[in-house]
Amino acid sequence: MSTKEVRKKLRIEDILNNNVWDVDYEAHIIVDTSKCAKCEYKPCVRLCPAECYTMVDDKVLFSYEGCLECGTCRIVCPEEAITWRYPPSGRGIHFRFS
Ligand code: SF4
Repeated sequence: MSTKEVRKKLRIEDILNNNVWDVDYEAHIIVDTSKCAKCEYKPCVRLCPAECYTMVDDKVLFSYEGCLECGTCRIVCPEEAITWRYPPSGRGIHFRFS
């Protein structure tokens, strides 16, 4: 069975679990949750591929540890509530493609 065939049978969670995170003690994404209260659709919750944004009692809860550094949340936030930067060199996600 080829690598491509094996990948087709894996769930996205399985593929992501091949990656390694060297999580920095300081968050590389800061969310101003006071702005989230004004946001009607909360696209970050729906579009973050790592599910870093969740709803808890009608409030957005964010955790940066599993971030894929894709930048989607920064782009889709209509309230500009997100301050985004890459983690310091060597920190964050280390992608593994095999
Ligand atoms: S950068 Fe991507 S993976 Fe990280 S929190 Fe934003 S949407 Fe999620």
